[in-house]
Amino acid sequence: MKILVTGGTGYIGSHTCLALIAAGIEPVILDNLCNSKLSVLNRIEEISGKRPLFYQGDIRDSVILDRIFQEQSIAGVIHFAALKAVGESTQKPFEYYENNIAGTLSLLGAMRRAGCFHFIFSSSATVYGDPHAVPITEDFPRSTMSPYGQTKLMIEQMLEDMQTADPRWSMTLLRYFNPIGAHASGKMGEDPQGIPNNLMPYITQVAIGRRDCLNIFGNDYPTNDGTCVRDYIHVMDLAEGHVKAWQVCGEKAGLHIYNLGAGQGVSVLEMVRAFARASGMEINYKLVDRRPGDVAECWADPAKAQRELGWKATRTLDDMTRDSWLWQQTNPNGYEA
Ligand code: NAD
Ligand code: UDP
Repeated sequence: MKILVTGGTGYIGSHTCLALIAAGIEPVILDNLCNSKLSVLNRIEEISGKRPLFYQGDIRDSVILDRIFQEQSIAGVIHFAALKAVGESTQKPFEYYENNIAGTLSLLGAMRRAGCFHFIFSSSATVYGDPHAVPITEDFPRSTMSPYGQTKLMIEQMLEDMQTADPRWSMTLLRYFNPIGAHASGKMGEDPQGIPNNLMPYITQVAIGRRDCLNIFGNDYPTNDGTCVRDYIHVMDLAEGHVKAWQVCGEKAGLHIYNLGAGQGVSVLEMVRAFARASGMEINYKLVDRRPGDVAECWADPAKAQRELGWKATRTLDDMTRDSWLWQQTNPNGYEA
C-alpha cells in the first residue's frame, strides 16, 4: 500500500516515513526541499533498508500532483508540507497563506480528481490559542494568535466543510503538541535552518557550541517556576501516532480529530535540567523578557487517541533529550546537502 507523504523529507515527515515503512506501508514523498535536504532519503534508506520514492516538487503545482496520482496507486495522503515558523508568519503572512492554504487546496483538488478521499492533516495545538484550562481536550474552543495558527485553523475548517458536503471523505486532523527528539540511531533528527525558533534545537546548539547562551523567554508566568509549560512528545511516538491513525481511521469516512501529545506539562527550566541530566552538559542560559504570543501552559489530554487509536506516547523526557543530543553530536551541522 502506498501513501503520499507531502513534506516527507522534513522533520516529522521523515520520521513518519520510517514508521510507515516499519508497518509495511510504502511512503511516496513530495517535497520542494524549501526546508529540508535530499540526503534525508539516504538516512531513511540506511535505517530502514528502503528508499522511498521521491518527487521533488510543490504542492501548489497541480501538474506534478496529477502525475503522482497517475503514476502511483495512492491509498491516502498524509499532509505535512507547510511553512511553520510562528514569528516569521507575522512578517510574511502572504507567503504563509499562499503556501499553506493555497497549497492544501491544490492538493485536495488533485485528490478529488484522482478519486482519493483519505486525508491526514498535520494540525497543531496552536489552534487552541490561549486555552482556558489544561489539560486540553479536542472539544476545547479554537482560536489563534498568529497567521501560521490561522492557516491551521482555516484548513481544519475547510476539511470539516468538505467532509460535511461529501461524506466519502475521511478527514483526520492530528493536533501535535511539541515534537522533539530524534531517531534513536542518531541518524535522523531536526535540522533547522538559521537560528532555531524552538527550544530543543536551541538547547542542543548551545550544548554543541554553535550558540553562546539560551534565552529563556519569561519567568513571570503563573506556573510552578515561572517559565512556560509545554507538552513535549518524542518525534518517533508522534510518527507512530500517524500509522495508528491511518490504520484505524485513515480509510474510514468521517471527521476524526485527535490530540497527539504526551499528556504531561514540562516547564522550560525543567527541560533545561532534563537535558543536562541526559547529556552531562550544563546549559548556559539567561532569563529575558517574554516572547510575544507565548501562552503560559499548553498540554494535552491524549485520552481520546489512546481510547480510539490504541496509541499513547511511550518514550520519556530522558529518551527525548538523549536522542536529541545524540543526533546533534553525530551531526553537528545537521544533514549534508
Ligand atoms: P519541516 O519544515 O521540517 O517539514 C515540512 C516540509 O514541507 C519541509 O521538508 C519543506 O521543504 C516542505 N514544504 C513546505 N512547503 C512546501 C510546498 N509548498 N510544497 C512541497 N513541500 C513543501 O516541518 P515539521 O516540523 O516536520 O512540520 C511538519 C508539519 O507539522 C507542518 O505542517 C507543521 O506546521 C506541523 N506541525 C509542526 C510542529 C512542530 O513543532 N514541528 C508542531 C505542530 C504542527
Ligand atoms: N523558548 C525559550 N527560548 C527559546 C525558544 C523557546 O525560552 O530560545 C520557550 C518558549 O517561550 C516556550 C517554550 O520554550 O515557552 C517552547 O517554545 P517552542 O518555540 O519550542 O514551542 P511553542 O510551544 O512555542 O510552539
